[in-house]
Amino acid sequence: MEMVQHNGEYGCVMCEDPGRVYQQGKGHCRAFPLNDSPLALRSPDTVVSNAVEASNTNSIVKGIKSVSVLFGIQYLDPIVACVPDYMHGLLLETTKKLLSLWLNSSKEAYYLGNEVK
Ligand SMILES: [Zn+2]
Repeated sequence: MEMVQHNGEYGCVMCEDPGRVYQQGKGHCRAFPLNDSPLALRSPDTVVSNAVEASNTNSIVKGIKSVSVLFGIQYLDPIVACVPDYMHGLLLETTKKLLSLWLNSSKEAYYLGNEVK
């Protein structure tokens, strides 16, 4: 499927959270704030449905731009087939930064250190 970039609205390959744009330094970034309500997770059915609607209306539907020829492959799950962004997630140390925030910020609402054994 063709999707918006990771920093675009609905850029998450796993869920249908549009995210929010925040000012950061001299620029801005898209982030996904903590949600009290459960997020709508993407499924193969919703991805295909969004892709078909996007193709039919020539628009972007929940971050998905078009149908992919890969949808014709039997047993292909478009959610599982999308791998995490290696360059931004690992090489630029985003994962390391997130783990540090989640596990070392005991006074913050996002602290997860007491949830980990
Ligand atoms: Zn997500």
